[in-house]
Amino acid sequence: MTAKRIDGKAAALAIRERVAVHVGEFERKAGRPPGLATVLVGEDPASAVDVRSKTRATAEAGMVSFAHNLSDTTTEDELLQLVLDLNADERVDGILVQLPLPNQIDAARVIATIDPSKDVDGFHAMNAGRLATGLDALVPCTPLGCLHLLRQELGDLAGLEAVVVGRSNIVGKPMALLLLGDHATVTIAHSRTRDLPAVVRRADIVVAAVGRAEMIRGDWIKGGATVVDVGINRVPTDDGKGRLVGDVAYDEAAEVAAAITPVPGGVGPMTIAMLMRNTLVAAHRRAGLANPEGL
Ligand code: NDP
Repeated sequence: MTAKRIDGKAAALAIRERVAVHVGEFERKAGRPPGLATVLVGEDPASAVDVRSKTRATAEAGMVSFAHNLSDTTTEDELLQLVLDLNADERVDGILVQLPLPNQIDAARVIATIDPSKDVDGFHAMNAGRLATGLDALVPCTPLGCLHLLRQELGDLAGLEAVVVGRSNIVGKPMALLLLGDHATVTIAHSRTRDLPAVVRRADIVVAAVGRAEMIRGDWIKGGATVVDVGINRVPTDDGKGRLVGDVAYDEAAEVAAAITPVPGGVGPMTIAMLMRNTLVAAHRRAGLANPEGL
C-alpha cells in the first residue's frame, strides 16, 4: 500500500484565497485593511527567510504588513518598547515576534508583553489558557494547520486514538488540546516516554513534532493511520546543499499509512496560511465584528 500524500500547499492556498476574500469585506466594513507587524531581531538566515514568506503572504492576502528588522544587539528593553508601541498602534491587528531571539532577550517576557488580542502566534499565556479551558482563543498556527489537514482528511476525529510526539508550547501541547477538543483520545509522548514505537503503533493519528530527522520509522506506524509530520530537519547531502526531511521516515511510513504529509509541502505552508487566518480573526474581534465564516 502506498499512502495518499496530503497536499499542504494546495490546502494552504485554498485558505489564503478565502482569507483574501474576507479581507476585502473587512476593509469595506472597518474602513481599513487588517495589519500584521513582524519583528525580526538579528540575521539568522532561516528566520529571515521565514519572515519574508510571512510578509509576502500578508501582502498577497491584501493585508498591510509592518516589518521591523532590528539588529542582533537590540536590548530587551528596546524590544519590549517596540512591542508596547505596536500594542498601541490601531493599524496593527497582529504582532509576530520571530523566535528564537538572541540570548540577551528573554522570549517569555516579550511574549507576555504582547497584547493577547494581537497575539496571532497564540503563545501568550492568556491564549494558551483559553485554549486549555475551551474558550475562544488565538491558537498557535502550526497545530491549527495540522488540525485543518486532519479534519480535511478524516472528517470527524471523535474517538480516534491520536499520539502527539513532542510537548512544546508551540506545537505539541496545543496540538494535543486541539485534538482533545475534537474528541480524539490523545496521548502526548516525549523524550522520557517508555517504548515510544509501541505507543505510536496504537495511533490512528500520529503527529510528529520532535526535531529529529526521520526518527519515526515505518514499522512504528499502524496500518491505515494518518501521519502529520511537523518536523523540519536539514540533513547533509553529497553536493553540500543539504536536504529537508521530516521527523518521519516518509518512504517507509508511506508503505503502511493511509495518508501522510510530505516535508516540505505539508505542514509548513499551512503554518503561514493559519497566520493569515489568525490575523484576519484578530482584526474582526478587535473591530467588534463577527468571526469570518468558514475559517
Ligand atoms: P522543541 O525542541 O521545542 O520540542 C521537541 C519535543 O520533542 C520535546 O517535547 C522533546 O521532549 C521531544 N523529543 C525530543 N527528542 C525526543 C525523542 N528522542 N523521543 C521522543 N520525543 C523527543 O521543538 P518544536 O516543538 O518547536 O518543533 C518540533 C519540530 O517541528 C522541529 O523540527 C521544528 O523545526 C518543527 N517546526 C515546524 C514548523 C512548521 O511550520 N512546519 C513550526 C514549528 C516547528 P522533551 O520535552 O522531553 O524534551
